[in-house]
Amino acid sequence: MWFKESYFVTHPTEVQLFIYAGLLMSLWLAEGFVSNVSFNKKWKHSFTNVMFIVTALPVQLLMTIFLLLVSAWVMHHNWGLLNWLPFHHTFFVKYFIGFVLLDFFEYLYHVIMHKVKPLWKFHLIHHTDHQLDVSTTVREHPGETFCRMCFLILWVFLSGASFGVLLLRQTLQTITNITSHTQFRLTGASEKLIGWVFITPNIHHVHHHYQLPYTDCNYGDVLSIWDRLFGTFNKMESSETVFGLDTHMDEKACKSFQQILKFPFIKNNHHTLS
Ligand SMILES: [Zn+2]
Ligand SMILES: [Zn+2]
Repeated sequence: MWFKESYFVTHPTEVQLFIYAGLLMSLWLAEGFVSNVSFNKKWKHSFTNVMFIVTALPVQLLMTIFLLLVSAWVMHHNWGLLNWLPFHHTFFVKYFIGFVLLDFFEYLYHVIMHKVKPLWKFHLIHHTDHQLDVSTTVREHPGETFCRMCFLILWVFLSGASFGVLLLRQTLQTITNITSHTQFRLTGASEKLIGWVFITPNIHHVHHHYQLPYTDCNYGDVLSIWDRLFGTFNKMESSETVFGLDTHMDEKACKSFQQILKFPFIKNNHHTLS
């Protein structure tokens, strides 16, 4: 049966989880050692963000079943953009072109979440962290987790992405997403060189600035090329960057897990300043 192929993905999931948890925890500890904020204070801040893992996990796990079924279906029926390309059986098309296509779709997803107002109400939760650190990576409303997985299923259906390229994407995305939220910035030549192709902490921090037009720039997920291509790339000095959202300046509310969960259902979700 074609859908049984999905079992092959369950084992690498453990490796994914190991990378995810290991990278998150080691960077969190490293941030704590270099900053002048006490571990107690840092944990209090991070705890709110960590709570979002609890709400996202059931949605993520349930939707992953559908994602794998769709991926198995497109693989079995040779369906999707990648399968209609010449040399579609080659490693280059399957993995390289496949990864680049999925990363473009992820850029598109992020733009949609900012520009479609009902969706922005859920995505803005990620932007309401006033003290960006590595724990911000997991600050995602379960409503957004649902949207993100629905879109991912759509992207897999359109592209015909196989399990292999999905795993490659997931691994690289995990590393980029976590590192782009750390307080460790790159400097000089390394920032220029890596930032030409990949999303760095410097690039993603600009996206977390509290005011437009900076919030609506640097949408990239793994690759920064899409922002450069479509004119959404922007730079800002770290000394000028203020994390948060101009519509949600109440720091106390932005620290309360229960209150944050209600944000999408409260009016005043659009930028007032620009
Ligand atoms: Zn965003
Ligand atoms: Zn972010």
